[in-house]
Amino acid sequence: MAGEDLIVLENVNKWFGPLHVLQDVDLSVARGEVVVVIGPSGSGKSTLCRAINRLEPIDSGTITFDGQPLPAEGRPLARLRSEVGMVFQSFNLFAHKTILQNVMLGPVKVRKEKAAVARDRAMALLERVGIASQADKLPAQLSGGQQQRVAIARALAMQPKALLFDEPTSALDPEMVGEVLDVMTSLAKEGMTMVVVTHEMGFARHAANRVVFMADGQLVEQAPPAEFFANPKSDRAKDFLSKIL
Ligand code: ADP
Ligand code: MG
Repeated sequence: MAGEDLIVLENVNKWFGPLHVLQDVDLSVARGEVVVVIGPSGSGKSTLCRAINRLEPIDSGTITFDGQPLPAEGRPLARLRSEVGMVFQSFNLFAHKTILQNVMLGPVKVRKEKAAVARDRAMALLERVGIASQADKLPAQLSGGQQQRVAIARALAMQPKALLFDEPTSALDPEMVGEVLDVMTSLAKEGMTMVVVTHEMGFARHAANRVVFMADGQLVEQAPPAEFFANPKSDRAKDFLSKIL
């Protein structure tokens, strides 16, 4: 149901040795909501994303996804990972498999789908991200922007309930950023629940329902983008915005 919370973090703490990388983080993401996370390098944005699909265990607090605490291991963890897709800065495609195989692999191996079914959906998703004509090529034959669109199709192939993006355009040449943001914007409009770490403030302004600003492991402030950009409340957010805008 739209509006109900899909991802809930309560009082989440995480240390890397002495470094308190997530400090009492509270964050709820509603079904269908698009939350953009911004903040200086080293503020804990990637760790926050990774904690949500349990690539990083947390030290205290709770994270629930779709009403359930995050599972620690086994099949429930595998299911969580399939329900919370992740798109990284580095596209992480399998270099020796074709584009089509990359998109089919998860559904066939993890979800035990029949190859024909997985293939049909993979082709439809490649169509949707504008790469269908490249289906039989290897990742290295595609541009960075195309590879990242394949990575998005691959995440969508698992029919996730939410997608996490960790700086999905940071590794791209500038002329390829737009094509990836366009795909993300259309997903946002179609109602996908998304948590997006990005420095693309245009995307934050136009596609986000909410902007979350992090600094030094703390969630410093959050607001709808128009409000946040027009009137950041904390000195740290003002300082950050003055450097990037
Ligand atoms: P951001 O994505 O906002 O740049 P990160 O979540 O990657 O921040 O990192 C937050 C802090 O935690 C940084 O100081 C980083 O160096 C540190 N860090 C991240 N991952 C590890 C790790 N596996 N071991 C130790 N320190 C880490
Ligand atoms: Mg990061």
